[in-house]
Amino acid sequence: MLKVENLKKAFGKNEVLTGIDGVVNSGQVIVVIGPSGGGKSTFLRCLNLLENPTSGKIAFEGQDLTQLPEKKLDDIREKMGMVFQSFNLFSNMNVMDNLTLAPKRVKGEDEAQAQKKALELLERVGLAEKKDAFPESLSGGQQQRVAIARALAMDPDVMLFDEPTSALDPEMVGEVLKVMQDLAHSGMTMVVVTHEMGFARQVADEVWFMDGGDIAEKGTPEQIFEHPQNERTKDFLSRIL
Ligand code: ATP
Ligand code: MG
Repeated sequence: MLKVENLKKAFGKNEVLTGIDGVVNSGQVIVVIGPSGGGKSTFLRCLNLLENPTSGKIAFEGQDLTQLPEKKLDDIREKMGMVFQSFNLFSNMNVMDNLTLAPKRVKGEDEAQAQKKALELLERVGLAEKKDAFPESLSGGQQQRVAIARALAMDPDVMLFDEPTSALDPEMVGEVLKVMQDLAHSGMTMVVVTHEMGFARQVADEVWFMDGGDIAEKGTPEQIFEHPQNERTKDFLSRIL
């Protein structure tokens, strides 16, 4: 579904991604771990061309995104849901409107259709009773679950998560991870940057350890956590586990 080849990104002289290769197959959950500043967010943002790669290829469903005109990219971005550390809900709209805005405007869904799907998604993340609430009245964990539902409302083919639980109070981390785990079990293709090693162990099909702008090591959770081969992986895990 996604294939990245020799992806590089520099900001001025700062080479942030130095040549990333990777394949994300349909239905797979890839968890990206690694130290701060290693390029994880930049990598994720390059995947949907929120950030323009300096060189390399990103093939999504057979099309090289780096070669597509901006107009076409918008269509592609619709198929890639993104969830950030800061929930980024529209604060001037209630939960229902947050979920229905893009499907109506971008996909041309009618009100009834958009609302029906939004309610189903809110039920899925356990927040149907909050449909009329405004974001500011919700807890961080609830806001993040709404943000996930909002991304799903566009019927994406892949979901990208950048540290979705890092801004949350500890007691709310679990409810968001649970929603992500359910999503993984439903067959969604996911790329998740996280420091939640329990989630990585339990949910990832593959863990990619990213450091210094490249992927130092890839493997199953078992391989990465129990038998890391790369010295940098070993060093990182010894510091965090
Ligand atoms: P963290 O775990 O702290 O979120 P990260 O692995 O996500 O870190 P990135 O945010 O991708 O790392 O940053 C990698 C490097 O790229 C850093 O040196 C950062 O300063 C630089 N960088 C990221 N975005 C930009 C930008 N828009 N302009 C200039 N430099 C940037
Ligand atoms: Mg980051």
